[in-house]
Order: sequence, then structure tokens, then C-alpha cells
Amino acid sequence: MDDDDYGAAAPAPHVEPIPQSEAEDAVRTLIRWAGDDPDREGLLETPARVARAYREYFRGYQEDPGVHLSKTFGEVGGYDEIVILRDIPFQSHCEHHMAPIIGKAHIAYLPNKRVVGISKLARVLQGFAKRMQVQERLTAEVADCIQKHLDPVGVAVVIEATHACMSARGVMTAGVTMTTSRMMGVFREDDRSRKEVLALMGKG
Ligand SMILES: [Zn+2]
Repeated sequence: MDDDDYGAAAPAPHVEPIPQSEAEDAVRTLIRWAGDDPDREGLLETPARVARAYREYFRGYQEDPGVHLSKTFGEVGGYDEIVILRDIPFQSHCEHHMAPIIGKAHIAYLPNKRVVGISKLARVLQGFAKRMQVQERLTAEVADCIQKHLDPVGVAVVIEATHACMSARGVMTAGVTMTTSRMMGVFREDDRSRKEVLALMGKG
């Protein structure tokens, strides 16, 4: 378990939109690069499908994940314990190979009077996951976003994932899981609080 600093969260880069036809041309080029013929029947619709799939894989660039945390609730009946979401599945793509990263995240925070709807934490994760990522930055961005918008007493994010760029190419190491974590506030400063949250995540 590593809770080093991974650097500041990066905003979504702003790039000029391009027409879908340009994306399709690029896919045709990649098909030729792979060694196949983009004009054979089975591949004719593939460039358009891939272009649309990329819209889905990378829809996180169209949104600011922080908006999901803009609506908070103060009426929590004096609740002052850890709020945790475990085993949230996600898919992302590594920015080095654009290969799938498939994993699950555990997100916890200790509220400071305000809480958010429970599904919103998962939406923040998805907003950052649907971009080109490295797992360390994804972990940091989710935690930083929660810290910034909820100003809680503590935030803990643990992500476990497998990287297709490792399992399907290169060293061909299947089944290896990478774990990253980001602890902030009380979970970083206080051993007992960190142990408690890790135990709740099933990582204790
Ligand atoms: Zn990679």
C-alpha cells in the first residue's frame, strides 16, 4: 500500500473537436497498420463503430466530475462516522498504450457536516476513469475532487486494477493487480483512522 503524493489533479484538456470522419480515417490507418484490409466486408463498419466507442470510452472529457458533488446535504442527524462505497467497478484506458484498465475502487470519507448522495462518489470516479489515465493519477484525482468539494475530515481512495497493456502485450503477465491509494486528512495523519478505513474496505 502506497499513499505517496501523485501530484495535482489535472483538468480535462481542451482540444478542438474534429469531425467523426477524421477519426474513422485514423481507424482505417490502424487496421492497415495491424495488417488487415479496411475495405474487406467484415471491417467496413468497424471505423464508425470504433469512433463511437471512443466517444463512450472517453466521455469523461465532456464533463467536470466535480459537478456531481455540488449538491450536498447537511441534515445527517449528527452522523459523524465514515461513509464508504466498496467495490465500485470501473473501466479506464492507460494513457501510454490506450489499453483497458479494469478494476474496482473503494472510496471513503469522513464528513464534515455535509454529505452527498451515495451514487455521486461513483460518478466522480467514472468521470475521471473515462479519460486516458495512469492509475496513480486516477486515484489522486478522485480523492482531490472529494476533498475540494466536500472539505471532509478525511478522504481515502483505494483502487485495484489490472492493466491490459501488461496482460496482453509486453511482459504478458496475466492476473497481476496493481493497488494504489490516496489518504488525506485524518486518514493520512492518524494511524488508527487509516487502519479503520482500510478494514472497512476489506484491506485491513
Ligand atoms: Zn499501458
